[in-house]
Amino acid sequence: MGARLSTVGLGWLLAAAVALPAHAVEVRDVRLWSGPENTRLVIDLSGGATHSLSLLKNPERIVLDINGAHLRHGVRAPASTVGLIHGVRIAQHSPQDLRVVIDVDRAVRPRSFLTPPNAQYGYRLVVELPGVAAPPLAAASAPTPIRAEHARNGARDLVIAVDAGHGGEDPGAIGAGGTREKDVVLAIARALAQRIAAEPGMRAVLTRDGDYFVPLRDRMRRARAQNADLFVSIHADSVRDRHIDGSSVYILSQKGASDEASRWLAERENASDLIGGVSLDDKDDVLASVLLDLSQSAASIASEEAAGQVLQQLTQVGQIRKRQVQQARFMVLKSPDIPSMLVETAYISNPQEEERLRGAPQQARLAEAIHQGVRSYFYANPPPGTRLAQLASPANTARALPEPAPALPAM
Ligand SMILES: [Zn+2]
Repeated sequence: MGARLSTVGLGWLLAAAVALPAHAVEVRDVRLWSGPENTRLVIDLSGGATHSLSLLKNPERIVLDINGAHLRHGVRAPASTVGLIHGVRIAQHSPQDLRVVIDVDRAVRPRSFLTPPNAQYGYRLVVELPGVAAPPLAAASAPTPIRAEHARNGARDLVIAVDAGHGGEDPGAIGAGGTREKDVVLAIARALAQRIAAEPGMRAVLTRDGDYFVPLRDRMRRARAQNADLFVSIHADSVRDRHIDGSSVYILSQKGASDEASRWLAERENASDLIGGVSLDDKDDVLASVLLDLSQSAASIASEEAAGQVLQQLTQVGQIRKRQVQQARFMVLKSPDIPSMLVETAYISNPQEEERLRGAPQQARLAEAIHQGVRSYFYANPPPGTRLAQLASPANTARALPEPAPALPAM
């Protein structure tokens, strides 16, 4: 009886599936991206779709079936190979389902997920292959190692995390002339990191140093892993009104900070992260919340001051969109113990700004302004225990010149 019923049920389901409009979803593009930590296949879809993933051996391959999908005319599998992926094939598997076969170098444990559309992109189906061993973070190096790297009296270098927005499958804003935000901001970020690296007592780390996707929380995690003293995210905004131009500097809003505090408190038992060098997981609720609040307040004050210095320097480069430091709930600014700012260097949607942003001279000017702002903030507020605190002390300001390189290596 039961078996018969389920057979009837299955028959009905099949009939329903056949009755569905075939090819409800169109595959608009298939792209490959590779970063230091993973390789991604990104499929742009015209709408939501269910999918299934399976692994096959000899040779190793990943099979992705997208239900109710078909390939838009002219869309092809990416020809190039990238990361662990050495081939992608796409075929109509059944009248309804599109099959994507991904040839991989070795056994992997991929994950797949559908991301809903947002203001900029439609539905995307992502297959992510983890496990590419790579250095955790690209350290920006000074053009020439003219300066001794050793820490004097055990004093440490200040660490500035420079975050180029977007990357990989996420181009960011795109100007009318085709300039992509992700490219421009990476160029500015690299120029900034070089200037910081050349500064005595400072070190720069880039959260990405190539054209690949880094999730927002990973950017924060990378900064934290490097004990960053400041996080600077570089962007180039876009709005519908093409006349709008100028730079703006943002810090985290109160609302964003309290959202993040709730998250930290809710997850503190699972997280091993320290807040300002203190562990929260062994504290009771009240104490943990007080400590977090203190840390966030200190970070917020420092963020605002540093952002103010950067904004002031930017006024000398060109238009300023907003004369005051702005507040917003940008995810990357949410580190509760790392002062953070987001610089919208210009409006890529403005044709004149787009043109300027493409050029190395303007990129250098923007990098220089941000560098000078960061520098003056830290010379006014040097963290204790840093080389900069020694360089900035009144006794030293008169002779605050880079040390000559030692004649011989220390060892
Ligand atoms: Zn952006």
